[in-house]
Amino acid sequence: DTLVDDDFRCGYVALLGRPNVGKSTLLNAMIGVRLSIVSHRPQTTRHRILGISTKPEGQILYVDTPGLHRGGKRAMNRSLNRAARAAISEVNLAVQVIEAGRWTDEDAAMYAALAEQPDVPKLLAINKVDLQKDKTAMLPFVADLMQKHQFDDVYYVSALKSKGLEGLEKGILKRLPEQPAVYAEDEITDRSERFLASEMVREQLMLRLNQELPYATTVEIEAFQDRPDGIAEVHAVIWVERDGQKAIVIGEGGAQLKAIGTSARKAMETMFERKVFLKLWVKVREGWADDENLLKRFGYE
Ligand code: GDP
Ligand code: MG
Repeated sequence: DTLVDDDFRCGYVALLGRPNVGKSTLLNAMIGVRLSIVSHRPQTTRHRILGISTKPEGQILYVDTPGLHRGGKRAMNRSLNRAARAAISEVNLAVQVIEAGRWTDEDAAMYAALAEQPDVPKLLAINKVDLQKDKTAMLPFVADLMQKHQFDDVYYVSALKSKGLEGLEKGILKRLPEQPAVYAEDEITDRSERFLASEMVREQLMLRLNQELPYATTVEIEAFQDRPDGIAEVHAVIWVERDGQKAIVIGEGGAQLKAIGTSARKAMETMFERKVFLKLWVKVREGWADDENLLKRFGYE
């Protein structure tokens, strides 16, 4: 008898939190694929990304968000804030991610945005517990948080070490509506390979460039073509704001650009499961991050 499908659950789950708490790492751990790019820098995630996890009990549609950004001045920051707020209003459940032992003003601001949606169930995920030596020392801190905020439950996790994730997953699933899956069970995202390719180049920029430079760059895929020989040929442009930045991205004798290209290509080959031929260019466009039209062209919603 197939009673199994009767209580299949499916719904959208927003992963929310201030920059760098580990939302993208958590998404990747939950779906088992390095889908959303991660770096040690805040504001690595610029786009809303859907990660799909299908289990016998249900399908969880994780929405990784850029997080709310301070300083709504630049057009890019405004676009990021819109994406974060829109994400909250459209989901079946929200998970606010924080760092173990810390509750900052930014966490409070995030919660305030979340509290604007009283009907959305809210879970608190306390991440990076691997960094906490004395776990019991956290308990009063968490008890206080739970008392002052309207969270339905709290989970202790380490996204990096894949700890506590099953409990969180169960907590999510049981709060989703009973309905059939939206996506086929082998799908992991709604994003195109073209988009993922641009993100993999951008991840290398975040990891390898210093200080403010990564924030002055963006990546555009000019061509993505499956050749008859089975190789995917990808042409990517790294946009920077000034000539000096271009020189740094290219590096001495082209060494930096080569390293970026090699790492990005390897990441693409893993994700796309075929060989990739990646061509990279660095081009200058002054003020791209302040230009709404250019942002649209570069894929910012
Ligand atoms: P996001 O900005 O919230 O998406 O954060 P990321 O997922 O990009 O992670 C920010 C940084 O925190 C990266 O350097 C991650 O490796 C690190 N990180 C994420 N989760 C954990 C964790 O559970 N433990 C530790 N120690 N580091 C983590
Ligand atoms: Mg992120």
